[in-house]
Amino acid sequence: MLAIDERDDDLYFLPLGGSDEIGMNVNLYGYAGRWLMVDLGITFADDSTPGLDIILPDIEPIVKHRDRLEGLLLTHGHEDHIGAVPYLWPKLRCPIWCTPFTASLLRRKLDDAGLLGEVDLREVPVGANFVIGPFEVELVRQTHSIPEPSAVVLRCGAGTVVHTGDWKFDPTPFVGEATDFDALRAVGDEGVLALIGDSTNVFEPGSTGSEAEVRMALTELFDQYNGRIAVTSFASNVARMESVALAAAANDRQTALVGRSLWRMHDAAKENGYLAGLPPFVSEADAGFFPEDKIVLICTGSQGEPRAALSRIADGTHPHITLGEGDVCIYSSRQIPGNERAIGRVQNKLAGRNVEILTTEDHPGVHVSGHPARDDLARMYQLIRPRIAIPVHGDARHLREHARLARACQVPEAVVPANGSLIRLRAGAAAVIDHVDTGGLTMDGGRLVPLASEAIQARRHMLYNGAASVTLVLDKVGKLRAEPLVSFQGVTDGADGEDLELDAADAVREALRGLSVANRRDDEAVREAARRMVRRVVRAEHGKRPVTDVHVVRV
Ligand SMILES: [Zn+2]
Repeated sequence: MLAIDERDDDLYFLPLGGSDEIGMNVNLYGYAGRWLMVDLGITFADDSTPGLDIILPDIEPIVKHRDRLEGLLLTHGHEDHIGAVPYLWPKLRCPIWCTPFTASLLRRKLDDAGLLGEVDLREVPVGANFVIGPFEVELVRQTHSIPEPSAVVLRCGAGTVVHTGDWKFDPTPFVGEATDFDALRAVGDEGVLALIGDSTNVFEPGSTGSEAEVRMALTELFDQYNGRIAVTSFASNVARMESVALAAAANDRQTALVGRSLWRMHDAAKENGYLAGLPPFVSEADAGFFPEDKIVLICTGSQGEPRAALSRIADGTHPHITLGEGDVCIYSSRQIPGNERAIGRVQNKLAGRNVEILTTEDHPGVHVSGHPARDDLARMYQLIRPRIAIPVHGDARHLREHARLARACQVPEAVVPANGSLIRLRAGAAAVIDHVDTGGLTMDGGRLVPLASEAIQARRHMLYNGAASVTLVLDKVGKLRAEPLVSFQGVTDGADGEDLELDAADAVREALRGLSVANRRDDEAVREAARRMVRRVVRAEHGKRPVTDVHVVRV
């Protein structure tokens, strides 16, 4: 289906990730038989994917048609937009276009993966115009929660599309300039076929606040404390790093960066001329020596990540930093859905150390979102005036609401995609015309494996149900030559466990007796009968269905 005829004069849109989920954005635009990929991100695993760190999109549909892929264009440097590049680029081997700050971040990742010398990385300035295959590309300066976010304008024979990327309208973003409204309006005046856009905050009324408000709120808040002040936010929010540093300086405090990813982000920002004119940040090794009323600590770990600085501080295992009575920890961030429990665990440990915790719940001013609220979306539609709206970057609920909002903004057509929906962007007849299978991948012990793979499924099942193993020693005709041996892991303890093992062994012996002569000679039939019986016994007594392994030994 991705083999579009080169004489086909329709424009196609195909999301392989990020539509009906928040995270791992991958979008494809197809025209005249050629494809352009926009973004290639990851999702961080949560409590629903135990034992895994990251989830990657399955890009197999385009890998099969790699010869038709002109390249990959990155809208900005967030992990859910670039994080999969080091893992999946080797399957694509196409050129990559992005702005300098994103390139700085990507180079570090490619270097870690040993790919830096192989990738054809084409750095373009913010606001650049260039050509990729059949598309004339224009980047439009946006504001978000990381430096250098761009909206992407693609012009081709079938019309013009605006891919908003992640955005907000911030008149005072501090790091980088405000949105280029003139460019957006000019594109709208030209006539736009489709707008493909961010749905993250479609349920938020009004307009998203500016970084200037956070800067002011933090400055006032710091003044109320005499102990250590810790602030946690996303490392990539360089403007927030600057806001904290300036609020600290206004309160006669210095600022330390605690956590490796903050320093990586700091270095990438410096490389591109950001964070200029600030006093130098203090290292985490030195931060511990400052009087407690002279230091602010910016810490990684706002999402409860167990290896991040804040989790280690909460556990009391950080080598340099401690927090306790009289200290405050400010969450200058939002809770990403799925992370609530992990965040709660860290906050409870901090509370156990008598650390005061401030979040947006009681102090709304300590964070502003990087995504557009309803009034901002309406304003974007007034500027761009597209024929078709395609909501992306949200779960199903967000996408549906965004489609309703677009129609209310006089957009004639709105099509709600799911991952794998092939959408024809034709005025008057925009529709999902086909569907490709998509799924997730994960990195497991250094290998890429499908989330739906047997090993991953079994591990998850084991986590909730425990495991059983059965050993059967049989002769050639299937007569038991020893008592069946059953053992459980993670099912039950002590005497209960021994009873259950004996009950299960008895039941297995009975089950084998019930097999036909032919089945008793067949290892697979024996295994299946034993497996079924063990699961039945455990289910009856404990309500669990353990992953059950049966070893048959013939003597
Ligand atoms: Zn983003």
